[in-house]
Amino acid sequence: MTKSFYPPIRTLMGPGPSDVSPRVLAAMGRPTIGHLDPLFVELMDEIKQLLQYALKTKNELTLPISAPGSAGMEAAFANLVSPGDTVIVCQNGVFGGRMKENVERCGANPVMIQDSWGKPVDPEKVSEAFDSHPEASVLAFVHSETSTGARSDAKTLCQIAFEHGAFSIVDAVTTLGGIELDTDNWKADVVYSGSQKCLSCVPGLSPITFSKRAAERINNRTSKSHSWFLDMQLIMSYWGEGKKRAYHHTAPVNALYGLHESLLILKEEGLETSFSRHRTNHEALVAGLEAMGLEMAVDQDFRLPQLNSVYIPNGIDDGKTRNELLNDFNLEIGAGLGELAGKTWRIGLMGHSSTRRNVITCLASLEAVMAKQGYDLVPGAAIDAAKSVLDA
Ligand SMILES: *Cc1c(COP(=O)(O)O)cnc(C)c1O
Repeated sequence: MTKSFYPPIRTLMGPGPSDVSPRVLAAMGRPTIGHLDPLFVELMDEIKQLLQYALKTKNELTLPISAPGSAGMEAAFANLVSPGDTVIVCQNGVFGGRMKENVERCGANPVMIQDSWGKPVDPEKVSEAFDSHPEASVLAFVHSETSTGARSDAKTLCQIAFEHGAFSIVDAVTTLGGIELDTDNWKADVVYSGSQKCLSCVPGLSPITFSKRAAERINNRTSKSHSWFLDMQLIMSYWGEGKKRAYHHTAPVNALYGLHESLLILKEEGLETSFSRHRTNHEALVAGLEAMGLEMAVDQDFRLPQLNSVYIPNGIDDGKTRNELLNDFNLEIGAGLGELAGKTWRIGLMGHSSTRRNVITCLASLEAVMAKQGYDLVPGAAIDAAKSVLDA
């Protein structure tokens, strides 16, 4: 007989999942009720309101997709893009490439805008792409590129799309709860996120919101979306207004208890307080890493506080370091991806993981592991540097 699975208690400081709050885990252990139970329908309404708060939107069409962030991405494209459409896609990391895949699989034509990995999307190039492709109906970009740690100017990019009469699709998977996200003021048309990054819920859910304009487009759509599961016309029969809800799929009831709790935690803390906590812990981590002689991979102006890309110094073994952190310190940090594979580490300070304790734990562990590999450092200097930020 195989045994029950008891995972170790890790400290999750990678690109997600982040440490899940015990409050969220406790909520998920409560009794399962039916997905059409009137009490569950009330909870759905509350989740919608909490999402509207977190996403800063009054959009009616706001809900969690019953699948991870990638499904939120797919839902955005499957509902707003039809065969033959032209879609401007910005790529400055891994996730823009996945957007291109989505456009192609919708039978539409992607116009790619490439920027260097680690740099933000260049709004000039986006304007030029609209000039040469006036037929473009959608602009898609990643606000927080988790693969590199760079933040793009979502407000400006959404504005460009709006001025060209196009819809904007914003990947805010790593944004939500960590840094400013202003759906309505940005005039963003579709914003999707994930549960396991700065919300610190379990993986597997994708909050999404559609502007009034986008919702009208979906309602007026004459050709069916190629995706049955992600077709918002159908999903609205379950997540829509009023007490009458029709079965579309069985909602992940307990996971939604968890999402509700994580959104409640965010609301209790307040968005602005959460953002400033993320910022302070990020500044402390950077001060510590720099005191160790490490160099950040993203310019200060575009750095994501929740995802810190740092160059691996010469003479330090990437895999060996991450393995030792995991095995000896129960600490997970992320590897570089794509162009940055083997060159950077990605240290997450997302949601419940963004704490003073984790900043210090990470610096102390990294110091110990790197010193063993002969890296020249002053023991304790990183922690002192971090503390001087944390205690300021
Ligand atoms: C994590 C992530 C995704 C995908 O989310 P999953 O939950 O892994 O499917 C998409 N976009 C960005 C920017 C992400 O960081």
